[in-house]
Amino acid sequence: MYLDEDGDQMNNALTLPVHRIIPFSNVDGPGNRTAIFVQGCNLKCVYCHNPETIPKPCNSNGYREMTVKALVEEILKYKPFIKGITVSGGEATLYKDFLRVLFKEIKKYSLTCYIDTNLIFDWKEHQNLIEVTDGYLVDIKSYGNMKTLTGLSYPQDLFILKNLLEAEKIVEVRTVCIEYYMDLVTTVQKTAELLKNYPNVEYKLIRVHHRGLSLHQRTKIANNIPSAEKMNELKNLAMQEGLKNITIIL
Ligand code: SF4
Repeated sequence: MYLDEDGDQMNNALTLPVHRIIPFSNVDGPGNRTAIFVQGCNLKCVYCHNPETIPKPCNSNGYREMTVKALVEEILKYKPFIKGITVSGGEATLYKDFLRVLFKEIKKYSLTCYIDTNLIFDWKEHQNLIEVTDGYLVDIKSYGNMKTLTGLSYPQDLFILKNLLEAEKIVEVRTVCIEYYMDLVTTVQKTAELLKNYPNVEYKLIRVHHRGLSLHQRTKIANNIPSAEKMNELKNLAMQEGLKNITIIL
């Protein structure tokens, strides 16, 4: 093992549990990007469309452990066709030490490095990763109590979103809208309040849908899908807060 000039480990001991790699994606940030989906998540959302990525890595679900070297080699195969990479999940920020080293390598090739995250991480402990990350695509799950929606037993505030906005690191903000499991109105209001001063950041309000979900999940959300009218009300609410860059996805 040796350390680079910043003291980061440069050996093969650091590995990333990779669930799947999509070489070319145009829905994981601006431009054509290689999307890397990690295995493992710190939440358990009722509407999760990738529940197979939630369990921590184990030997039975087909993921592969990749070193920085192996991942860089794979990404470079796609380099002529991409603007950068986006690491998603599962929850990418669980692997902050690996990602810092990966991003520092990837940026040597003039590719940008984005993270798609649920924002459930420790702000202070993530400074080294934030420093080398070009942008974040974030899910605001629910303001306040998150237990019913995600299983997380402490409330969510928007402290990290606020700080990342101030650091000009936010690319896109999304909220998946579902009745009963979250405080929809407060979540949209509080998020809009913050975003109104950042007109380049789009806020996407996504109506929860049950396509591709298990029967168990479909049963849970069946009666809690907001109507089109409700989605419009939420959009109007955000606009009353002064937000202009907002899109509804039904
Ligand atoms: S944060 Fe994303 S991957 Fe994790 S459980 Fe929620 S929807 Fe699924």
